[in-house]
Amino acid sequence: MDLIIRNARLMAKDGQWDIGIAGDRVAAVERQIAADAGAQIDAQGNLVAPTYVNGHVHLDKCNLGDVMRPNKTNSFQECLEITWEHKRSYTVDDIVARASRAIEEGILNGTTVFRVFADVDSIGGLKPLEGILALRDKWKSTVRIEAVDFPQEGIVRDKGTFERMEEGMRMGADVIGGLPWHEWTDQDAQEHIDLCFTLAKKYDKDIHMLVDDTDNPNSRSLEYLAIKTLRESYRGRVAASHCGALAAYDMVHAHKVMALVKEAGVSISTNPHISLVAQGRYDKEPIRRGVTRVKDLWRLGVNLFSSQDDVNDPYYPFGRNDQQEVAAYVCHTCHMTYPNEMSAVFDFVTHNAAKALRLGDYGIEPGCWADLNILSAPTWHHVLRLQQPPNVVIRHGKVLARNALSRQIVSG
Ligand SMILES: [Zn+2]
Repeated sequence: MDLIIRNARLMAKDGQWDIGIAGDRVAAVERQIAADAGAQIDAQGNLVAPTYVNGHVHLDKCNLGDVMRPNKTNSFQECLEITWEHKRSYTVDDIVARASRAIEEGILNGTTVFRVFADVDSIGGLKPLEGILALRDKWKSTVRIEAVDFPQEGIVRDKGTFERMEEGMRMGADVIGGLPWHEWTDQDAQEHIDLCFTLAKKYDKDIHMLVDDTDNPNSRSLEYLAIKTLRESYRGRVAASHCGALAAYDMVHAHKVMALVKEAGVSISTNPHISLVAQGRYDKEPIRRGVTRVKDLWRLGVNLFSSQDDVNDPYYPFGRNDQQEVAAYVCHTCHMTYPNEMSAVFDFVTHNAAKALRLGDYGIEPGCWADLNILSAPTWHHVLRLQQPPNVVIRHGKVLARNALSRQIVSG
């Protein structure tokens, strides 16, 4: 064995364990591994978990917050306009530089897989995707980056975007994006979904759409996405982010849609950072939280995951690209505060996200990739409570990052 992690606590296992790593894989998980290894790390009784998976993040526009002009009208419309101003003059180098800062933050926070959305539209053309493909290339030996071919300005309402998306697939994008609810009519939203499936099937790629990202109960693209997934036999290959409108439907309609989502095997990502600030804007008190029906979907057995979405951009001024912070936001916004609920949220940023992205060999079992975080507390509850980054981040058997925290009271 090349590396042994001693004295680790694991989710859903009592006591302390040793994890043996051979090459880039987990080789053994035992109470005490008798063998020696080239290197050892003492986890000191802290929780060890698979590295986090961030299944939805926009890195073409990240960190524009540092260079953009102020939003003078305090409006979402101006968020869009500021983004357009920058998008017209993006360069590949500029995108790679801004996005690399977010990737570095993500690594230090224990994430080694990023599904990165790149705008493809009539404003920036294919430049954002070019930038994200260059980012993927720059980081390819360090982390996994998936590039999503994402029609941020619509497909039906943004002429030429279907052709641009097809060019994006030829350039090497990994996933077909979508934004059906942004189209002007329900019929256009359905056509948008149909066009995305046409590309996905032609290039044999998975689909990840941002769906019904609104409090408007008349936004109803999720049900069509689920039905289309069933009709095209794409079960397990489709993810939908946001789905805020599902929370605004009446119970009867919501249950119909959730049953379809379950049957179609569509994974749902809730991204509470952005939902908390982007939704509920037309509400007088009480103001809604803008997140989808997380608990209902969870109880139904839908594959739920949770992602960062925005990092320091015109839409959202914060974001550390930190899946522990994302998990803590889910616990707060979705009332997931009891032990079994917190455990479920652990899966939202690890196993469920890996399932949505169809990552193979993910977990802490012999044969899995040795992609592990040695966390900074013995239990997931205290990881969430204390919000400290992992002590050690390991990818493919090699130490990728270490965080050292020095805190002491020097006089009393
Ligand atoms: Zn997004």
